[in-house]
Amino acid sequence: MAIAPVSRKEQIWLACKPKTCCYVATVIPTGRDVWRISRALDAPPWTFVTFFESPTARRDAFVLDASGRHFRLALAKQPSRRRKTPAPCIFLMKTNNGLHRCGLGALRPMSCQAFPSEMSAGGIVGVNGLGCTCRSWNLTDVDIDVERALVGNRLRDADEYAEVVGRWNDRVAAEAPPKPIAFSSYCDYLLEAYDALGAEGR
Ligand code: SF4
Ligand code: SF4
Repeated sequence: MAIAPVSRKEQIWLACKPKTCCYVATVIPTGRDVWRISRALDAPPWTFVTFFESPTARRDAFVLDASGRHFRLALAKQPSRRRKTPAPCIFLMKTNNGLHRCGLGALRPMSCQAFPSEMSAGGIVGVNGLGCTCRSWNLTDVDIDVERALVGNRLRDADEYAEVVGRWNDRVAAEAPPKPIAFSSYCDYLLEAYDALGAEGR
C-alpha cells in the first residue's frame, strides 16, 4: 500500500515536542468539524466542545433564546492545575518521553490543519504563526498549493457553517422559546444539519 507523502509543514508539526499552540489557542471549530469528529469518534459534541458568549453577533454565533445573547463554539480544554500556562486542548496527548501528539490526527479542525497559513482576498497565501512560540514560520516551511487548498476548505466550511447557524437562529427567533434552549439541542441540530449536508461535503 502506498504511503501518502507528508508535507514539510506536517513534518514540522509532527516533530514539534511541546505543541504550545495546542495550549495557547482557543480553537473555534465549525459545525462541519464538530460533525466529523463526533461521527468518527461516536462521541456526542458536548463531550468535546463548549460554548462561550460572543460580544458581537458574528455570523458563526448562535442564539439559545430571544435575549439577544450570541454564543460561539470552542474545543474544550483539559482540566489543568497549572496556573502559569493555559490548559491544553482536550485532544492533546503527551507520550512518556514528553512528546505531544494531537489525538485527532487527520480529524482535527480545519483551523488547526490550515494553521499558520492565511489567504488574502486575492488568493495570495501567507503565513502568520501567532500562537506558535517554538519557531518563526515563513513561506519556505509550507507547500503553497497544499496550503491554498487547506485555507480554501477552511473558508468554505466557515461559509457553510454561517448558513447552518443562520437557519438555527431564524428558527429560534420564530419560536421565541420562553426559556433558554439547552446547548445539547444545538449540538443535535448540528449533527442533523450536517448529516443532511454530508454527501455534499468533501
Ligand atoms: S485539535 Fe489537535 S491540533 Fe488542534 S489544538 Fe487540539 S490537540 Fe492541537
Ligand atoms: S505551530 Fe508551533 S507550537 Fe504548534 S506544533 Fe507547530 S511548531 Fe509546534
